[in-house]
Amino acid sequence: MTAPSSPSRIDTSKPHPARVYDWLLGGKDNYPVDQEVAEKLPAEARNNAMRNRAFMHRAAAWLAQSGIDQFLDIGTGIPTKPNLHQIVQKIVPSARVAYTDNDPIVLRHAEALLVSSAEGATDYIEADVRDPRGILDHARTFLDFERPIALSMIALMHFITDDEDPYGLTRTLVDALPSGSYLVLSHGTTDEHPHLASSVKNTYRKGEIPLRMRTRAEVEPFFEGLELVEPGLVTATKWYRSEPAPAEELSGFYVGVARVP
Ligand code: SAH
Repeated sequence: MTAPSSPSRIDTSKPHPARVYDWLLGGKDNYPVDQEVAEKLPAEARNNAMRNRAFMHRAAAWLAQSGIDQFLDIGTGIPTKPNLHQIVQKIVPSARVAYTDNDPIVLRHAEALLVSSAEGATDYIEADVRDPRGILDHARTFLDFERPIALSMIALMHFITDDEDPYGLTRTLVDALPSGSYLVLSHGTTDEHPHLASSVKNTYRKGEIPLRMRTRAEVEPFFEGLELVEPGLVTATKWYRSEPAPAEELSGFYVGVARVP
């Protein structure tokens, strides 16, 4: 884990994605600037955040049940129970989970992420997905890259603009993984809420948070060269659940789990 941040590093003058998302999930680790953005978002944004989180729960459990015991999670967010390691260690107690986020507030709460099962281990580093090699260098000290790893990037890449090369960054990370590894990705979209597209974008933009929602065709390339597992690239509410999603349950996220061949 990197050195603890000094309190002054938390910038409360500008909204931050991790804190806006925390508000949407009903958390308390956010500031008035974040609440201002979150409250202006359409009511559907709250449901979407919760449905995205529910997808993370299902996908993490599915991976652990499939025998994956190493996880590299980028864009972890402010801890919200259950966190990824709590889900997977319940199934595979010896699972190791490396968490990464670029927001100092997540580092501040990292203690909650570092309480691992006795048999397993968790790790946290403050790092930016735009520095994939830095993330990999650190992850190699904690995970065994000779064995399959699940790379999870949940509700992250819509904060990466086109000129920052979101597909290339993902490719660099995926290329480092051995065969049998998985990519788990969820990505913001307004395909099911076209009427909300401009208000969501403008609300984040006013908060100086660049947001690049992508269409289905724009999310597909994240999985290039990988084998999407059933049910394929779908919206968050439709990814493996014991009961079909109610018809009225829309989603603001495309999700997929894909195997590295
Ligand atoms: N993965 C969690 C949290 C999603 S919120 C979940 O789905 O429940 C998005 C997270 O991505 C925030 O915590 C934010 O701080 C982080 N993030 C945004 N841009 C990032 C970047 N460039 N590098 C690393 N993390 C980033």
